Order: sequence, then C-alpha cells, then structure tokens
Amino acid sequence: MSKDWYSIIDKEKCTGCLKCVEFCPHGILAEGEDGKAEVVNPDACVTFCRGCQKGACDFGAISYFGEK
Ligand code: SF4
Ligand code: SF4
Repeated sequence: MSKDWYSIIDKEKCTGCLKCVEFCPHGILAEGEDGKAEVVNPDACVTFCRGCQKGACDFGAISYFGEK
C-alpha cells in the first residue's frame, strides 16, 4: 500500500457506535465482523481530512497513519 494517510481504528476504544461509518462520505469505514468500525478502503481516505475523528468519534478511537 502506497497510501500515506488513512484512518486507524483503536478496537480497544471503539464502542461500535458506527457514527464514523455513517459520517464518512468516501466509504473508508464499515462495520466489521466484531460489530466495530473497520477500515475497508484506506486508499480513498482523504489526506489530512480528520473528519471522522473530529466530527464523529466521541471515544477517541480514531487516529491516522501518516500523522505526526
Ligand atoms: S465513531 Fe468511534 S466509537 Fe463509533 S464506531 Fe467509529 S471508531 Fe468506533
Ligand atoms: S479521515 Fe475523512 S476520508 Fe478518511 S475515513 Fe475519516 S472522514 Fe473518511
């Protein structure tokens, strides 16, 4: 994978509210088999977006590959 920015879900912190799945308009996130959010399409994640982290997740479960 050559992508330099994509969301990462901390499964310990994720409650499975799935707000981020609904929030992201790019189809990056989906419900995983464990009922929690999963990154399914990292290549389409918008570089430096942070939308799901700031606008959806109330549990601090989202971070990003590529952030400093
Ligand atoms: S918004 Fe946060 S807690 Fe809810 S499913 Fe997404 S990562 Fe998990
Ligand atoms: S950072 Fe933006 S594009 Fe990437 S998963 Fe979150 S809302 Fe979607």
